Amino acid sequence: MTMLDRMRRHRSWLKWSLGIVVATFIILYVPTFMPGGRAGATNDTIASNARLREHGRALDGAVRACDAVNRLFGDGEPHPPAYHLLCNELGLLDREPERATLANQLAFRLKLLVAAGLAPQLGSCASCGEAEELVGFSGAAGGVVCAACEAGSFALSQEGHDFLVTAIGRPLADSPDADPQALQQAERAILETLEHHAHVRLRGVGAR
Ligand SMILES: [Zn+2]
Repeated sequence: MTMLDRMRRHRSWLKWSLGIVVATFIILYVPTFMPGGRAGATNDTIASNARLREHGRALDGAVRACDAVNRLFGDGEPHPPAYHLLCNELGLLDREPERATLANQLAFRLKLLVAAGLAPQLGSCASCGEAEELVGFSGAAGGVVCAACEAGSFALSQEGHDFLVTAIGRPLADSPDADPQALQQAERAILETLEHHAHVRLRGVGAR
């Protein structure tokens, strides 16, 4: 038998094996997804997939939280507040993986800013102290800015501002949610504050 014959035989064997695997998959799994199929199994599968998705997001959130702490506090010095905050976040994601949302990651990062002594100024203009007409956020100024000082800032909506204030004020387990635009503004506020004052660039918070 030539080498080519052996390869032909081998290829044919692979084809049959693949056929058997596909047939097994169809027989065992497809009825689960058919309308009126094994209803209990279908529900179990959907519930199991939902759990897997939640746990996948929680794992992703945990990795990003560790990465953020490492980038901001990974200088070899002890930072007890950041350590406790990270333990708190990881414990929360472990107990309640459904909390692994963009809003949760942003709330965690805002609390990291506070732990790093970089809490953004949110009550009045970070440049001139004006308490009215706060229209933007400036990473360089370190907080919200008024209409007169908005040069170099980006627009911050009322909801974006509310999210920043509430996420810093509430425990992580009770962090608020907000619309995608407000969350995007909050992420930008965090990123620009860190870039200007800690020279650190964090990874994005990812998809919800
Ligand atoms: Zn101002």
